Amino acid sequence: MPATPGRRDADVIVVGAGLAGLMAARQLIAARREVLVIEARDRVGGRTVNASIGAGNVTEMGGQWVGPTQDRLLALAHELGVETFPTYHEGRNLLELGGRLRRYKGTIPRLAPHVLFDVQRALRKLRRAARRVPADAPWTAPKAAELDGQTLASWVRRAARTKKARRLLEIANGTMMGTGTAELSALWMLSYVSSAGSFDALVDIEGGAQQDRFVGGSQRISQKLAEELGDAVVLSAPVRRIAQGGSGLDVDGDGVQARAQRVIVAMPPPLAARISFVPSLGGRRDQLTQRMAHGALTKCAAVYAEPFWREQGLTGQAVSDRGPVTATFDNSPPDGTPGVLLGFIAGAEAIRHARLSEADRRRVVLESFERLFGSDAAQPGIYLETAWAEEEWSRGGPVCSFSPGALAHYGEALRQPAGRIHWAGAETATVWCGYMEGAVRSGARAAEEVLDAEGWRL
Ligand SMILES: Cc1cc2nc3c(=O)[nH]c(=O)nc-3n(C[C@H](O)[C@H](O)[C@H](O)COP(=O)(O)OP(=O)(O)OC[C@H]3O[C@@H](n4cnc5c(N)ncnc54)[C@H](O)[C@@H]3O)c2cc1C
Repeated sequence: MPATPGRRDADVIVVGAGLAGLMAARQLIAARREVLVIEARDRVGGRTVNASIGAGNVTEMGGQWVGPTQDRLLALAHELGVETFPTYHEGRNLLELGGRLRRYKGTIPRLAPHVLFDVQRALRKLRRAARRVPADAPWTAPKAAELDGQTLASWVRRAARTKKARRLLEIANGTMMGTGTAELSALWMLSYVSSAGSFDALVDIEGGAQQDRFVGGSQRISQKLAEELGDAVVLSAPVRRIAQGGSGLDVDGDGVQARAQRVIVAMPPPLAARISFVPSLGGRRDQLTQRMAHGALTKCAAVYAEPFWREQGLTGQAVSDRGPVTATFDNSPPDGTPGVLLGFIAGAEAIRHARLSEADRRRVVLESFERLFGSDAAQPGIYLETAWAEEEWSRGGPVCSFSPGALAHYGEALRQPAGRIHWAGAETATVWCGYMEGAVRSGARAAEEVLDAEGWRL
């Protein structure tokens, strides 16, 4: 049960009960420290959240997939008794491009040979360039400032010559980052790819980041972590102010005041910047957070009695250049009942979509699904939508990106502690940055920093 808000003291206060914050707290408690986790929302899990779709089934509206090399997350889930199951991907995928709908198998669609060649050449360049960018210090990469001085859109314009290849890369980037390629630094994207090991690891189902899902939904991991932590987690208490002096820190939130020796702020950097820090954190950290912005990804789920597309030999995966939904997946529970079709709307299109009435939002998404999967898609039993840019305590998703010119100059401030304040969160990870794996690793890293700094090793 969550604790009653009020005056609380601890060795360490963790701000934010997403995977990063909960993991940090778990590690500190294992080292016998007293910890308090303060969370703004009335739930844990942050950017992971389950939605009920009846009969005890859930579908995820935030982060959900897990794949090979995401070892810390997989080990944690296993310890907590949350098992995985493979993402459904049997059959053919769909591609709606330039007004034509075609079926294809695997990751690379069937395209005109010159377009296919162009996509592959651009991907080869991306893979090669990413190998030269160390994810733990991208500012030290050869020509870092030059790469950081251009948008990903400029980089793609040089790497790919055909409009269709550029459009496909734009869609892939939108689903992955929730932004347009014109909004983010090329160096940042290369560092992002490098942190995942390869571009293929990011986009693939089998052998990639979309390979598996968690039975019962990804939020169960955070819920189980919070159960372990018991009354060390305070919900519905947004932190407004953190003041640090020589001997400790005072943390003020709605309905809670607390004091600790160290604080771990475990949230997206631009959101952390909305907290009032006394004294101020200094120019470099602030310049950094002023230049980081969350993506705007909207996740839509339509629930049907059965996954009817499977009967048609389709995986449920589609890519569309028409929108508003530009990518879809089969998101049905492990036994395939009910059928859940998941759609992503990304970037500026997601912001436009959010301004429509509820009925119009549902209508245009179902029109997208119907164009791709036929008339069976028109009448789902349940329709759900989460616009992450509209979420007060996330202000976007799936990940925050650097605008051009920031990473090379201010990137070092991303993880550097500010006195007794330490930073965690998926964006601070050097392995699987932006992913649940990165969040878990970042929480563990911040906890280690605190234990080392205070000499609290057992
Ligand atoms: C639509 C979508 C799809 C995604 N897909 C995947 C995927 O398939 N696989 C994958 O690995 N990752 C995916 N991600 C990314 C993944 O969900 C995140 O990387 C991860 O959950 C981030 O965890 P975190 O703890 O770093 O941050 P968060 O989960 O954002 O946690 C931060 C916490 O801080 C709280 N908070 C904010 N402000 C305050 C305040 N002032 N005071 C107190 N608390 C505050 C928030 O409420 C939140 O609970 C996706 C994300 C989204 C949104």
